[in-house]
Amino acid sequence: MLNTEKIKGCFWGLVLGDALGQPVEFFSIEKIREMYGENGIQAPKENAIWTDDTEMTMAVTKALITMGGVERFVELDDNDIGEIFAKEFITWLDNPGYAPGITTTGAVGILKAQGPKEWRISGKNDSKGCGTVMRAAPLGLWFSNALKPELPAVDGLYHKTLAKVSTIQSEITHGHKAATAAALAGSYAVVLAINGTSPDKMIQPIQTYCNHIHPDFNNAMERLKTSLLNRSDETFKTDLEALTYIGQGWVGDEAFAMALYCAIQYPNDLKSCLRVAVNHDGDSDSVACIAGGILGAFNGVSIIPKDWVDKLAEKERMMSFLHQIIGFFKV
Ligand SMILES: [Mg+2]
Repeated sequence: MLNTEKIKGCFWGLVLGDALGQPVEFFSIEKIREMYGENGIQAPKENAIWTDDTEMTMAVTKALITMGGVERFVELDDNDIGEIFAKEFITWLDNPGYAPGITTTGAVGILKAQGPKEWRISGKNDSKGCGTVMRAAPLGLWFSNALKPELPAVDGLYHKTLAKVSTIQSEITHGHKAATAAALAGSYAVVLAINGTSPDKMIQPIQTYCNHIHPDFNNAMERLKTSLLNRSDETFKTDLEALTYIGQGWVGDEAFAMALYCAIQYPNDLKSCLRVAVNHDGDSDSVACIAGGILGAFNGVSIIPKDWVDKLAEKERMMSFLHQIIGFFKV
């Protein structure tokens, strides 16, 4: 059941993952160790900033607020949904946050030049960058009460509606179907988390729901399962080794599978989860952003370390944004 604690947990979790990863996003693990010591970066720095991941998540949230509650999503026409997302993405482009992805800025640049009605052409590319899944958590909040885990994952009205809205939010910027699959998985993981499904029990329902969309996503989920097995029998000696086997996370399918790995290994410990999620060769802030959103949604705000929140340069801005979301849901 969606409540204030879970909304706050989800948002602070994703923001903290994003902010912890920001200073090391483009560094190899060797370079990270050189800068921060053998264990890598361990906590956000003073006045930590978040990146495009959080800014885009906020843009998606604003679009969903404009659309209304999920009952309205069933009635909304694809064109209306696409245009509402497109308008928020165009606004986002004025303040995109740190290091926005090139695919997303390119696609939103097209929207800005040609207008939000052109959302069907802006994402016509072959990119499966992780931009679609790093911003996917809010859809999970919106659909959490309508999608009980015991409902069939394919035929239900709201499962179909989530897939519809998620596909539009993804394909506005990214044309590759693996990115579409990853975005849907990212939103659905938050639905499951809010409804009390622990991260280790998410793999099967997510595969049932998302695997048919593209084999690359399916393959990343299979690597996740292999990584978990090999880590538990010590074939892989470290979480870093297990994550590296899955990929680097620049693309959506890998970023999601890596994030879920971190959430599964540390289901009740956000700091440990995020430290693993950022200290590797790949896309540190996005993997941690996805993992943090899932863990925060599962555990609620009690899992959020206050000493890390206090490090955020724009803590107040996020607090007032959360106030707006909680006001919308009236929870
Ligand atoms: Mg980023």
